[in-house]
Amino acid sequence: MGAKEYMMSLIVRRRLLSNKVPADHPAPLEGWIELKARKTFMKNRELREDIGRSDLGTLTRADFEKYQLFRVREQMRYAMENVPFYRDRFKALGIRPEDIRTYDDLLKIPLTEPGDLAENSMLFYGVSATKMAREFTTTGTTGHRKSIGFTASDLISKIDIISSALKGVGMSKGDSLHIMFPLVTAWDPSLLMVGACGILGYGSSVCAETDTEKQLQVMRDSHATFIIGLPSFIYRVTALMKDKDLRSMGIRKIISTSEPLSESMRALLEDAWGCKVIDVWGMTEFGLACAIECDCQNGLHTDEANMIMEIIDPETGRHLPPGEKGELVITSLNAQGTVLIRYRTRDITAFIDPPCDCGAMFNRKILKPGGRMDLQFKIGMGHKVYPLLFDEAVFVDPRVLDYQVEISKDGYRDLLTFRVEASEPSEELVSKLVDSVSKVMEVADGISEDLVSTPKVEFVEPGSMEYAVKAKKIRDLRGSFD
Ligand SMILES: [Zn+2]
Repeated sequence: MGAKEYMMSLIVRRRLLSNKVPADHPAPLEGWIELKARKTFMKNRELREDIGRSDLGTLTRADFEKYQLFRVREQMRYAMENVPFYRDRFKALGIRPEDIRTYDDLLKIPLTEPGDLAENSMLFYGVSATKMAREFTTTGTTGHRKSIGFTASDLISKIDIISSALKGVGMSKGDSLHIMFPLVTAWDPSLLMVGACGILGYGSSVCAETDTEKQLQVMRDSHATFIIGLPSFIYRVTALMKDKDLRSMGIRKIISTSEPLSESMRALLEDAWGCKVIDVWGMTEFGLACAIECDCQNGLHTDEANMIMEIIDPETGRHLPPGEKGELVITSLNAQGTVLIRYRTRDITAFIDPPCDCGAMFNRKILKPGGRMDLQFKIGMGHKVYPLLFDEAVFVDPRVLDYQVEISKDGYRDLLTFRVEASEPSEELVSKLVDSVSKVMEVADGISEDLVSTPKVEFVEPGSMEYAVKAKKIRDLRGSFD
């Protein structure tokens, strides 16, 4: 670390609230969110008046929602001054921050479509491009390019939440995080993770190699105790290292991020490494880390200090109650770079209300987001299939290393062809996989309607398939038939 970086890290460390969460806090992420809310309460009379107390005492869910709505109004005021897209929109529609007092008041603000952002990302910038500390471009599966900008303050806030999340999964001084991403992701997430580890005094190592020997060597050299990365990438490397005793590596937890994690893949990874696999959900638009599982592994705790989430019926736009599945809509609460207000994520999930068995008292969880709406393909009579669905069915056997699916036409029927890399290909494995994917409800229904053929499984040479992030796992060759 150079002198300048060292000074920066001291400044950052002082500003980070994650360092102020007590080490024995049962739910460090919630502890951090609460500190953010309390700090805002101390500083702002508007919030104190809203809550109706001068001394906060115990923070309830109702108090916390008032904090979030106060932050929404602040973000709207910032946007009206600095963000061209919202300045124009709010002016044209006569939308005023002071009208947003309840959760349902959010419905008064129109949704922001991903297309709006892709069309002209600069309109969402709160500062000029030259003042951004980092800019990232996402290609997206539909080909739209979105530029997302983060100011230094945005990045510090992100490092703060990542730090709290790393504490939450059980990291402490003496631990080291091994960061495994292939070189194909939209932006390099390791930057923020290395930063978070540095500030907390944890070790870290980064390795993008599919060469398994190199991966193991880097892990050993850095004394890695935790792993974070893309599940499909970790799985691929794990499957290729099957003859090694991975349990002896002493990895205490694996954090799966940037892609949906199927339960079958989770089970295989947990078995191979002998530790829990924790799921993270996020999107580039909001700086990736947005929600993380606790040890209960039944829902992801959300970063409610930096974003307010809504679940809506994608058809009618109305709010859905906890437990009901709908589209996740996110509003940033503290962003300065790219500001997004009621942004449609196209991800389907549901709220799970607190408390949680991990000790969190007010922090809301979301169900593991499953199929991205824009990654879905329809088969048979409109049954939606998406990568996570097939992951569940194909990774049922540890001999499977990787796979891709093609959807084509077999006469009038849809045909799913699974190209599978397996360590020991056999007819028995073919039958097992055909049976497993045929039982996926969407496929089974299609077969019973006689609009989907029995799926085919073909083996390809291990290592011959190009590594594909989940978004590219399914190829639709039907052209205009869809
Ligand atoms: Zn929990």
